[in-house]
Amino acid sequence: MKRFFIGVLLFMLLLLALGGCETKPVRFQSVDTAMGTVISQQLYSVGQDPTDGVIDLLRELERKTLSRRLESAEVFQINAHAGEGGIPLTDKMGKILTDCLEVWEKSQGAFDVTICPLTELWNIDAWAAGELSGSYEIPGPEAIAHARSLCGSDKLILRMSENHTTELTLLPGMRIDLGAVGKGIAMDCLRDCLEKQDAIRAAVITVGGSVLTYGEKPDRTPWRISVTDPFDPSKACGVLTLRGSWCVSTSGDYERYVEIDGRRMHHIIDPKTGAPAQSDVRGVTILSRDGFLSDALSTACFVLGSEKGLTLAGIYGAEALFVLSDGTLVMTDGMAEYFEEK
Ligand code: ADP
Ligand code: MG
Repeated sequence: MKRFFIGVLLFMLLLLALGGCETKPVRFQSVDTAMGTVISQQLYSVGQDPTDGVIDLLRELERKTLSRRLESAEVFQINAHAGEGGIPLTDKMGKILTDCLEVWEKSQGAFDVTICPLTELWNIDAWAAGELSGSYEIPGPEAIAHARSLCGSDKLILRMSENHTTELTLLPGMRIDLGAVGKGIAMDCLRDCLEKQDAIRAAVITVGGSVLTYGEKPDRTPWRISVTDPFDPSKACGVLTLRGSWCVSTSGDYERYVEIDGRRMHHIIDPKTGAPAQSDVRGVTILSRDGFLSDALSTACFVLGSEKGLTLAGIYGAEALFVLSDGTLVMTDGMAEYFEEK
């Protein structure tokens, strides 16, 4: 009998010891730069510090795939071979461009990856980044008309070749620009990578203004993501309370812009006018499980304005929040379940 009790006691002590041994996730944090923007991370892992791996992955994505400026990137190579017939694409790029064409169609042309000649003409990103000096000159109507003639996803030909690779044909002078979806694609890559690493239990990673949440924090509290107030970008107009994996993207006229005679020239171009988009919206936030969609739709909805934007978000089952020029907030019913105004 005595032996039995000692046995039970030892067994219970073993169980206690094993329970105590389960490693608690440790929080790793970092702020760094990649893809021309600030990356801030908070990762909860039971393994080694994973933050450098995240930065490496983003830099590789930029270097191999997304960059318009680095020769090593697929986008650079596509643009360099415009007008030379079918350009074979990697599977990854084939899928990205197929998805882009779908958003172009469903947004009635508001989202257009062939916008590059116009973004280069306006060159707002470089001005906003302080890369240029002197005074900014608004492009004239002839230059805009010429750039517009080189844009339009209707001119893209994307087809499967005989050996089952997707081929893209760009007319001479056409170029593509994945600036509107790069951060979203990055969030999808990051989430896929986190899912493959058992040691990483939870994460919140911001890629510029886009935010990826993943898993559950060790203390089980939800993620709380601020939505910037376009009228005072140093403040939040509200907070999203989220659990699990989500992607949040915001497009607005308050981040990269140049002000000329009281008119704000920002970096999102309306393909229909060839000029910075003017709608009833100052900022749009999209919440989706899919990073590509959250990013593509935020740009498209900014161009479309709140009414058509709500319809587009509905088509994709994404949640949308619009901050209108008069300060009013308009959102999908689903968004209202996560968003709390400040
Ligand atoms: P941010 O990059 O500031 O987060 P967006 O996701 O809205 O904002 O992307 C803006 C970028 O998208 C621009 O810098 C430009 O490269 C590109 N772009 C601008 N207008 C359009 C458009 N109508 N369709 C697709 N891409 C666009
Ligand atoms: Mg976008």
